[in-house]
Amino acid sequence: MAKPKLALYWAASCGGCDVAVLDTNEKILDIANIADIVFWPIALDFKYHHVEAMEDGSIDLCLFNGAIRSSEQERIAKLLRAKSKVMVAFGACACFGGIPALGNFTNRDDIFQRVYIDIPSNANADGVFPRTLTEVNEGELELPELFDTVSTLAQVVDVEYFVPGCPPPVDIILKVVDLFATGQLPPVGAIIASDKTLCDECERTKEEKKITKIYRPHEIIPDPDRCLLEQGIICCGPATRGGCGLTCIKANMPCRGCFGPPPGVVDQGAALVSAIASIYQGDTDEDVTRMLEEIVDPAGTFYRFGLADSLLKRKRIQKAEKG
Ligand code: SF4
Ligand code: SF4
Ligand code: SF4
Repeated sequence: MAKPKLALYWAASCGGCDVAVLDTNEKILDIANIADIVFWPIALDFKYHHVEAMEDGSIDLCLFNGAIRSSEQERIAKLLRAKSKVMVAFGACACFGGIPALGNFTNRDDIFQRVYIDIPSNANADGVFPRTLTEVNEGELELPELFDTVSTLAQVVDVEYFVPGCPPPVDIILKVVDLFATGQLPPVGAIIASDKTLCDECERTKEEKKITKIYRPHEIIPDPDRCLLEQGIICCGPATRGGCGLTCIKANMPCRGCFGPPPGVVDQGAALVSAIASIYQGDTDEDVTRMLEEIVDPAGTFYRFGLADSLLKRKRIQKAEKG
């Protein structure tokens, strides 16, 4: 009997999600045993035209990591959607926008200005920016268009399942493969992780204590048995889905929120603001102002992984009026 066909792809991604699949070590052989890998740019030399030549729906499972921020990524997401029976948003960037979606606090023009002009080490006296089409003696060179706004995978194509994490832990990757191999995939739309918050799974002592000061992780050595938030370190546990195995907490580091919002929470950043506000002991406007000043990079702290998927989605930027 023919083996099911598996595709893996990276869009706006750091590559860590692909490396996480390789981190399954010898279990990768189990994956190769149960499925034929028909497309995996980081590991195997398949080309886009090979995918285009496949029949629609002929790929059984596609693990798609990375957000969508260019015309190429959008095109390949649509191509793989058409060719795949089951599309999985794999990792925080595909599920929620992830780190690339912090670009939604700015826009393409400002990014190009910063990267190609303002950075002091640039040598770009003519102010050349990347173009989608460049004429050279040999013909035309094409580059994909960089979008103003980064999107999640599900904002571009239909997605059957979501596997959160930055990157998804190995045990969850193996669970997905096992559910797929045994025909036990959950109902469409499921997020393959815990249904609890990370705080529900955390065994640190919670004393319902209020805090009066916020610390960055390097400023204190926290008690490894007590809740980090109650020690003044911003931990995203109250606004984050469980299931990661408490990876950061066990290393005495706060949760950064990579499993996205827990069930029932629409906007992870807003939920985290609310959790911090409820624990902060501040009576006066000065107290609140001081606390806000102690939170370095509040937008990046509250929306580190979830900006594209939040109610905000992006910062509104007034375009300069053309004179
Ligand atoms: S989810 Fe994390 S590991 Fe995966 S591509 Fe995004 S930044 Fe990299
Ligand atoms: S806030 Fe963080 S440290 Fe505190 S209980 Fe929740 S997950 Fe644990
Ligand atoms: S503790 Fe938080 S940031 Fe760390 S792996 Fe788990 S969900 Fe992700």
